[in-house]
Amino acid sequence: EKTAQRRDNYYAASQKKFVPFKDPMVFRKGSMQYLWDVDDRKYIDLLGMNVCISVGHSHPKVVAAAMEQAQQLTHCTTMFYHPVPAHFAEELAATMPNPNGDIEWVVHFTNSGSEAVDLAMTIARGYTGNLDLLALRSAYHGPTAAAQSITGISGWRHPGMPGNVAFVADPNQYRGIFGQNAGAQPYLDEIERTIHTATTGQVAGIFIESVQGYGGIIEMPKGYMTGAAERVRAKGGLLIADEVQAGFGRTGDNMWGFEADGVIPDIVVMAKGIGNGFPLAAVVTRKEIAAPMADKFMFHTYGANPTACAAGRAVLQVIKEDKVQENARVVGKALLERLHALKKKHTAIGDVRGRGLMLAIEMVKDHKTKEPDPQTTSAVFEQSRQSGLILSKSGAYQSCLRMVPPMCLSLEDVDQVADGLDRAFSNINN
Ligand code: PMP
Repeated sequence: EKTAQRRDNYYAASQKKFVPFKDPMVFRKGSMQYLWDVDDRKYIDLLGMNVCISVGHSHPKVVAAAMEQAQQLTHCTTMFYHPVPAHFAEELAATMPNPNGDIEWVVHFTNSGSEAVDLAMTIARGYTGNLDLLALRSAYHGPTAAAQSITGISGWRHPGMPGNVAFVADPNQYRGIFGQNAGAQPYLDEIERTIHTATTGQVAGIFIESVQGYGGIIEMPKGYMTGAAERVRAKGGLLIADEVQAGFGRTGDNMWGFEADGVIPDIVVMAKGIGNGFPLAAVVTRKEIAAPMADKFMFHTYGANPTACAAGRAVLQVIKEDKVQENARVVGKALLERLHALKKKHTAIGDVRGRGLMLAIEMVKDHKTKEPDPQTTSAVFEQSRQSGLILSKSGAYQSCLRMVPPMCLSLEDVDQVADGLDRAFSNINN
């Protein structure tokens, strides 16, 4: 297969490691929740091409909007005005919580999630005048040097990253350091202890994913984001929500994952689903928090690119028109039920969790010790491919199978997913 050979010969090592399946998969086409490889085999994309495909592969309305814009003016750099990004900024700001109507949300467009994370770090440090940041141990925030510096999973961190970051324990309700279903409180105490012991006491902010993606679908327990915000704000810092995976309705009940906790972050980072596959990301914050940035230049050449923003506008429209968030809730609930049924049948499954279309199963060698089982995870992952399912391995131990499909996944697909997984578990046991 020439594509695989070319890739092997000409991709740098840095780009080669993250190849999930043993045999290369070469894709030809995508439509909504489905993908076809070069041999015309059809798959359900439970990975959503890395959570980027929010409303469906090559969704006709998103493609049409981007094509129309590309034909008019493909790029207009941010130093000039263009109606599409300006409109999109207004529409994005309107998706933010604003209970009393007195928050002036403003938007800074970037190209990727990690650029947006970098920018959020800079904004938080600039506004607060503090350097120290807190982040969660199993969170992933991106590959740029700054984003790596707040990424806790060691497998994603390379040498020489900048500092001024303290990591706190994940409030993981399955295998967290305070035991099963410990709730938020001990982890909030842990934040206080960490501020006291591992920072200068002056904090720029804490980064939290309302539902950790690469961390293995770790939901923040009730009260955690609110309590973390209180503790960090008391030290002069900000709550920064990384909604790169959990945003845009994926959690089912709300547009933003953090809304489930009733908390209003100071800065929200978004990417992936915002562009349904087009490179687009943004930082949304309050006007006064962004204001000190005006003292110096901060310029992303392709930020606010009108073609990507035209796609983004169409995504927001489709989320409403296709009732995508509601579908994520209903179909996610059905899939979660089926996964719980699988857990009863297959002892390798230690935990089932998540909400909306952000779900995972975690494999363990033993239910009591909860020793992670990355081998079974890999075997099920490979087997599922035979049933036309593309899953993704995640979690600090690579022992979770994550399901983050395009949010148009149907109830019929749920049957195929659950039956396929069932077969995969049965096959590896034979
Ligand atoms: N934050 C989170 C939560 C992510 O999952 C990712 C990407 N997986 C990023 C940030 C970085 O985004 P990007 O790869 O677009 O730079």
